[in-house]
Amino acid sequence: MVKCHYCEREAVVRLPYAKLNLCREHFAEYLLRKLERSVNRYKMFGKGSRVVVGVSGGKDSVTLTKLLSESGLAKMLVVHVNLAIGEYSRISVETVRRFSVEHGLDYLIVDLSEYGIGIPELVAKTKRSPCSVCGMVKRYVLNALTMDLGYDALATAHHGDDMAVYIVKSFLLQDYDQLYKISPVNYEVPGLAARKVKPLYEFYEFEVETFAKLYGLPFVSVKCPFKHVGWLESYVRELLDRAEEESPGFKVSLLRSHARRTMSMRSAEQAQPKACASCGLISSGTECSFCRFTRRALGQPMGLVVRRWIIGKA
Ligand code: SF4
Ligand code: ZN
Ligand code: ZN
Repeated sequence: MVKCHYCEREAVVRLPYAKLNLCREHFAEYLLRKLERSVNRYKMFGKGSRVVVGVSGGKDSVTLTKLLSESGLAKMLVVHVNLAIGEYSRISVETVRRFSVEHGLDYLIVDLSEYGIGIPELVAKTKRSPCSVCGMVKRYVLNALTMDLGYDALATAHHGDDMAVYIVKSFLLQDYDQLYKISPVNYEVPGLAARKVKPLYEFYEFEVETFAKLYGLPFVSVKCPFKHVGWLESYVRELLDRAEEESPGFKVSLLRSHARRTMSMRSAEQAQPKACASCGLISSGTECSFCRFTRRALGQPMGLVVRRWIIGKA
């Protein structure tokens, strides 16, 4: 039996980058401390802040929410965007509802189909990839909600494995605007954009998944039917996994160096922020990407419609 580094119990997880074997209890304590360190290291938010947590119902978002709630660092509102993707969305909504009720958390579900902007409806009207449309819609709704309900920050559950892939992929594509957006913290633009934080920025995916399973958290394990991973992303992920195997901790070093260099930089949208002429939130041009997209796809910009619904919930 391999013993826990801190006690006599059996170890249930090994963290190669920290050279630690841990039992269930000490693993949870380790992750909790890691979360608190990340929030403080990157000055994500102060103790007692009001934070919206975007929860898809996957293992990453339920783990983030559970850890944040255990830490007592923030007053949270769980927000789920119902993407209206058939059975996948039905299961996701139910999982988030169950998780929130079981943990006594305040939650809000934004149902896109109420406005005719469910992802399948939008995807049918464009040549853009489903994930790029979906990402843009989720970003818009969560930003608007955090702004309009007056919360201090928006937390999402992007973990380090994904962040490292996006950094290297954006560099290979020389997409510097995207590269500057990948950060543990994107600062608020008063009146236009909420502060966005990624408390799991330095977490490995296996840590997040192990925690969710060890603590029996409900999470969605069915795949979204639109999920598609391109060849470049697969290639970069494989490369980074091999680097991590050769040199445990490689990904976190990469993430920290990236954060040191880019946290003070601004994407084009943040450097010269403008207010969208239709909805009033952040935009790089006359209209924000959400209003521009919905105007083209549906004949009218939907930003204000969504914002009015949110304000009705305040
Ligand atoms: Fe949205 Fe793509 Fe994720 Fe499906 S896989 S939920 S379309 S981002
Ligand atoms: Zn222990
Ligand atoms: Zn707009």
